[in-house]
Amino acid sequence: MAKIPINIATGSLQQNEVIVGIDLGTTNSLIAIIHPESKKPVALKEHDGNALVPSVIYFGKNGNILVGDEAKPYLTLEPQNTIFSVKRLMGKSYNDIRDHASFFTYKIIDDNTESLVKIQVGETFYSPIELSSFILKELKNRAEHILKMPVQKAVITVPAYFNDAQRQATRAAGKLAGLDVLRIINEPTAASLAYGLGLKPEESKTVAVYDLGGGTFDISILRIVNGVFEVLATHGDTYLGGDDFDRAIMQYWMQQLGITENDLAQNKEQAQSLRLLAEKAKKHLSVSGVFQETINGKELTISRERFESLISDAVNKTLECCSAALSDAGLRVEDIDEVIMVGGSSRVPLVKERVKSFFKKELNDSLNPDEVVALGAAVQADILAGNNKDFLLLDVIPLSLGIETMGGLMDVLIPRNSKIPAKASRQYTTQKDGQPGMKIAIYQGERDLVQHNRKLAEFILKGIPAMPAGLPKVEISFLINADGILTVKAKELRSGVEQSIEVKPQYGLTDEEVEKMLMESLLHAREDIAKRALIEAATEAEQLSDTAEKFIQKNKELLSEEEVAQTKKAIENVRIALAGTDKDKIQLAIEELNRITQPFAERVMNEAVRSVLQGKKL
Ligand code: AMP
Repeated sequence: MAKIPINIATGSLQQNEVIVGIDLGTTNSLIAIIHPESKKPVALKEHDGNALVPSVIYFGKNGNILVGDEAKPYLTLEPQNTIFSVKRLMGKSYNDIRDHASFFTYKIIDDNTESLVKIQVGETFYSPIELSSFILKELKNRAEHILKMPVQKAVITVPAYFNDAQRQATRAAGKLAGLDVLRIINEPTAASLAYGLGLKPEESKTVAVYDLGGGTFDISILRIVNGVFEVLATHGDTYLGGDDFDRAIMQYWMQQLGITENDLAQNKEQAQSLRLLAEKAKKHLSVSGVFQETINGKELTISRERFESLISDAVNKTLECCSAALSDAGLRVEDIDEVIMVGGSSRVPLVKERVKSFFKKELNDSLNPDEVVALGAAVQADILAGNNKDFLLLDVIPLSLGIETMGGLMDVLIPRNSKIPAKASRQYTTQKDGQPGMKIAIYQGERDLVQHNRKLAEFILKGIPAMPAGLPKVEISFLINADGILTVKAKELRSGVEQSIEVKPQYGLTDEEVEKMLMESLLHAREDIAKRALIEAATEAEQLSDTAEKFIQKNKELLSEEEVAQTKKAIENVRIALAGTDKDKIQLAIEELNRITQPFAERVMNEAVRSVLQGKKL
């Protein structure tokens, strides 16, 4: 099997294109490539030597948008117009983040539903996908500026615990930024690759990746066998990181200066300068025993010893997460072969010391912990680009493999260029009440509609016990073994009913045919995207109007006559829109019906209806 890189701009086959690795972080993002001469991964830096782009977006009054360092000062100057931590919102509904709503200083629309969150800045609404795309666009521009060549393809990293919706959202953000996202890879996998783990075909290792950033902590336990990474367990705390260390120093100084939280709330500038000084002290204490500085005639000092006692509990908390992850993976500390340190806060000496004694092992901490994830993404990108000679022998699948979902759409489970062996699985559900079987049709190709792709096989999962639509959980898994044989398995998880089939994806396709299929997907990309959007909107509209209809039939007594009439009218409007081909019209009708029915759903927390509103249907 071979891999065929095609230059999108020219349509020509190309051997040496640049594919970048992107770490799209909560606090900072950055981009890395394999240096063409040294063949080593390097983070792309502007003249100031800074590789990190703060993941901050500022929306100015006159429509200008600033991203990165330039946007950062506005975090305190205009908090309502300055977006940070957007990664925390990816693939989330308001209900998901309700408990942490006060963390965000900008306006998140509280629509009380399970639909994806929207952020309001001035009169404009943004999705987290759009906001992330601003950061990615900035990274893309930056890379083009530094490399002096167009950058179109990328590998983007996400946390290992990101679910499918969050991964899809990240992919969509990349697409919106004008990037062809060849692969979404796990951050701990990238960190391992940066340290060269998983690159030797025969190697098998168990790795702990300890990632302590500015605001989040993650521990992942990975198993690497024959170059395939499997996440055995992840744990962490989404609100624990270097920011807490800064706060600890701030509070220590506030006590000394006799300043209260209230005083700081009154004086935002003082709060900001104290916070910045605390961070400076923390960084200084990573290399020195004491920090001392005078501001406004007052001397502020802190010793490393004091700092360590202030953060000791927080560090212990991270180790508790490590224990929990080990226990989830069914492993003991002795089973871990390598420990990798990631994230700016892993530089803190106390952190290193404690992690080292917890795992009873020397740490992999020689690479810059801020850059290590992006560096690993670049290693993966280079493998995909076919530049890594050691990897030429490794097989990849030349075309994406997936199944047909509602409306004839292609849902890719294993993207093209995936190294084999490979595996992937995803959950689906039924569309109709009491549906006893599910057709699983397997396709190969890059087009959005299965009718343009190549059908490989089809089978029916029979014997699903009668359940309301949306309730069955059918897990479809794809496994390609080292010989390129694909086994597709479908299993209804509630009942255990399962069925599988073997397929030979490559069979009968010449390199020329593969190339032709790739070219076609590029040629038709624009119309395919439009068709997909229309089908997705129509599918959602059909489901929503059916669900709403069932809902008012079932729950008449809870609704006023006027509400019933209003809902019927909105359903009717959805169906009228459905008769046409205007995606925006359909979406407007959906939004209207959603707006009317939202309060009802709250009234009747009907679990079955809720799950019908979620989940993909086959
Ligand atoms: P990240 O989210 O991985 O970019 O990590 C950012 C966090 O690392 C922030 O809280 C920084 O203050 C912290 N950090 C960066 N450099 C150091 C250092 N030398 N010592 C301690 N913490 C640091």
